[in-house]
Amino acid sequence: MQAAVVAMGIGDQLILMSNIQEIKKRRTFAIISHPDAGKTTLTEKLLLFGGAIQTAGAVKSNKIKKTATSDFMEIEKQRGISVATSVMTFEYRDLLINILDTPGHKDFAEDTYRTLTAVDSVILVIDCVKGVEEQTERLMEVCRMRNTPVIVFINKLDREGQNPFELLDELETKLGIRVRPLTWPINMGASFKGVYSLYEKMLYFFAVNKTKIERDVAKINLEDVELPSLLGQRDADQIREDVELVEGVYDPFSQEAYQSGELAPVFFGSAINNFGIKELLDTFCDISPLPQPRPSDTRKVDPMEPKFTGFVFKIHANLDPRHRDRIAFLRICSGKFERGKFYKHIRLGKDIRFSSPFSFMASDKKVLDEGFPGDVVGLYDTGNFKIGDTLTEGEVLQFSGIPSFSPEIFKEIVNLDPMKSKQLEKGIQQLTDEGVAQLFTLDLGNRKIVGTVGELQFDVIQYRLQHEYGAKCRWVNMNISRACWLTSSDKAILDQFVRLKGNQIAYDKDRNPVFLAESDWMIRMNQENNPEIQFHFTSEFK
Ligand code: GDP
Repeated sequence: MQAAVVAMGIGDQLILMSNIQEIKKRRTFAIISHPDAGKTTLTEKLLLFGGAIQTAGAVKSNKIKKTATSDFMEIEKQRGISVATSVMTFEYRDLLINILDTPGHKDFAEDTYRTLTAVDSVILVIDCVKGVEEQTERLMEVCRMRNTPVIVFINKLDREGQNPFELLDELETKLGIRVRPLTWPINMGASFKGVYSLYEKMLYFFAVNKTKIERDVAKINLEDVELPSLLGQRDADQIREDVELVEGVYDPFSQEAYQSGELAPVFFGSAINNFGIKELLDTFCDISPLPQPRPSDTRKVDPMEPKFTGFVFKIHANLDPRHRDRIAFLRICSGKFERGKFYKHIRLGKDIRFSSPFSFMASDKKVLDEGFPGDVVGLYDTGNFKIGDTLTEGEVLQFSGIPSFSPEIFKEIVNLDPMKSKQLEKGIQQLTDEGVAQLFTLDLGNRKIVGTVGELQFDVIQYRLQHEYGAKCRWVNMNISRACWLTSSDKAILDQFVRLKGNQIAYDKDRNPVFLAESDWMIRMNQENNPEIQFHFTSEFK
């Protein structure tokens, strides 16, 4: 970075200075939760505060309510909605905030995991009645892999929830992260009176309020003799006692510990009632990280570098068969992205340019002339992109940290129309490039196995193959529960293992050998018998 500045002329330095101003304004994050905890509601309220939307109800849930026997219209609708709300940008205070939407449905979890590689922090929503749920744990595992900073919002305080101390204990034990409350609730459910902000020393009074964004506050110290007249003697005593306990039990808040992913500040509120949102948003603006450096196969790329780099983390297909183009979502990592300029597509080794890249302002698409680190750009794509592809101004590097996770359900795809085998082949290649599912090929007979994290994906693939590619298929269940990527420092040993295991070995799209295991027990046994071979549960093992 220093060297880069020294080598530049005055003009370049001025450009760099203006880039830095832009970068400092950006905050890119995702809201994550188990379905129904309140992610959509919170997103909408944040947009209301930011002035990006005027009315409640403008943000549609991207939830699919039905499961395996889903109706495809619903999937189509869902996909239509999810492209409109994939990135929501709004301005608040002097910041430009990008919220990246993540599908709540478990069957689309891989999409969420990948989106998490493109953000700099997350807000995790917890339902105070249900506490930490299954999907919350999985999502947090992904955040922990990358030390993503997390702010927790405990929602639905207007309901009779669990004791707040117990909720915080549960967060620490189940999510493996230290927490630090920054507000504290005064009762819950029918007797919920509001929250006390431990930092502003401010009481926020709760009122059922689905439309307005302002509410009553009182600046007051807990020792103040006026407190009982505001809350009643019993609640005044209780909040004093609770806060004393909080200050005694939890370490003081540290921005550094938060930004390194070790400590999660916690807020209490009720999204549907616009309660607790402003404190959350203001604190987010104060403490959340700017666009962060990103690892690549050759070096760490700093957002402040003058030259443009970025990577594709999501591909969205157009389901209308007359318009087969897709939209690739590019996260800008460094420099400035400019419309019409040639950039190097590293995997294909060719230069390409984009005449109408676009940005996302709430649900509007807008042609974008330039973008900065932290921004997400939509690029029309006719089949050039795969998830993880890198664009640069010429430097050969590939962003890393976008792993594939082992699928959980595996099925062999069988072609039902021999006249359409080319279409099927092309369709399944393209759909798996989009990241809808993972494709593994068995060398023997060129059999194709598709792996996903949810049953719904198989319905989606079958439907799309038929409607977009004119190919009919059926699925044959496979007795496989895990895929492990294999490596070894001794190539001969790995080759021998691959030969010996025959049909238990398949190849992923990059021709990496993968061990398809029936059970965890089978993996353990093979690990014990083959100590020179490493078994990996994600595709990235550098
Ligand atoms: P998502 O699945 O996480 O996106 O959850 P939604 O935002 O769709 O919310 C799920 C349900 O919880 C909806 O019926 C919301 O109206 C409701 N909800 C959201 N916030 C609150 C809240 O603060 N209190 C109560 N009682 N319900 C809420």
